[in-house]
Amino acid sequence: MKSVIYDVIVIGSGPAGLTAAVYSGRALLKTLVIAGVVPGGQLMLTTEVENFPGFEEPVLGPDLIQRMTKQAERFGAEFVQDDATSVDFKTRPLKVKTASETYESNAVIIATGASAKWLGLDSETRLRGKGVSSCATCDGFFFRGKDAVTIGGGDVAMEDTIFLTKFVNHATIVHRRKELRASKILQERAFKNPKISFVWDTIVEEVLGDRKVEGVRIRNVKTGKQDVLKCDGVFIAIGHQPNTAMFQGQIELDQKGYVVISQGTATSVEGVFAGGDARDFHYRQAVTAAGDGCRAAMDAEYYLEEKGLRAH
Ligand code: NAP
Repeated sequence: MKSVIYDVIVIGSGPAGLTAAVYSGRALLKTLVIAGVVPGGQLMLTTEVENFPGFEEPVLGPDLIQRMTKQAERFGAEFVQDDATSVDFKTRPLKVKTASETYESNAVIIATGASAKWLGLDSETRLRGKGVSSCATCDGFFFRGKDAVTIGGGDVAMEDTIFLTKFVNHATIVHRRKELRASKILQERAFKNPKISFVWDTIVEEVLGDRKVEGVRIRNVKTGKQDVLKCDGVFIAIGHQPNTAMFQGQIELDQKGYVVISQGTATSVEGVFAGGDARDFHYRQAVTAAGDGCRAAMDAEYYLEEKGLRAH
């Protein structure tokens, strides 16, 4: 156990966690970021980010993370490049454990983000960032005049594909069943869109292409018939998984595992706050996560002042 008690421990080092660390450090709170063995979150899987305010020219996702990290360090935030493995929010000070250490603090900010679900194909992993994407909002712009395939039948698949039609020549939604899971309104919008077509009862078995995506090999699950769909981009929209397993039984999570918050960024446990994709399934943007991290740090600071717990 470390002898120091931090004011704030931030778990996670995507835009929510790093912005929280900037604000917390700048408020002169003793701040520790448990950044993860692979820090940076989903931005590390992105190439060019064009919609983060303040960057007139595109910025690479990993560069943006590096800048935010340096900014947080400038304000005194300490970093541990290790995964948080468990927490104990039932005793005070609050405890966050990694494989080798237990850290203590009077406030915790959960910013563990979410992970896109992937199909699990080797070819999908190999071509990630080379035409395979899990974020149409981030990458749609790069597919102007090209053909795209979206996989999934939920709201995100519909919204993403409708968004993609601003850029692409044509988009095909490949869904494993005959019925969509998406809300009726989004279904109707997708059905009416002349640039969108559907392939039903079908799964993607391989993403084709050597150095960039050239198509997908598909199989009809009812007939077994295989086919190839030529395309330049493959957008996987089969859902996200919040990275919150370690908080099970410690704070309130909703049915899908997202952190439940009330009154700003407060979780069900006093002194524990949450921001970013770990609690937001809807917007899932770097800038909304950053905004959330700011709010969580301000809420944590207010809490520490109000309770007289500010140690530094
Ligand atoms: P979702 O609703 O869970 O839908 C995931 C889709 O992917 C389903 O159609 C599912 O097929 C398919 N799928 C899952 N695993 C698959 C696999 N291995 N291979 C092929 N297909 C697979 O997820 P989401 O669309 O990301 O939405 C997440 C939540 O955000 C939902 O609650 C949604 O309503 C909400 N949301 C709402 C809005 C809005 O209201 N405007 C916008 C965005 C998101 P099956 O249908 O066969 O299970």
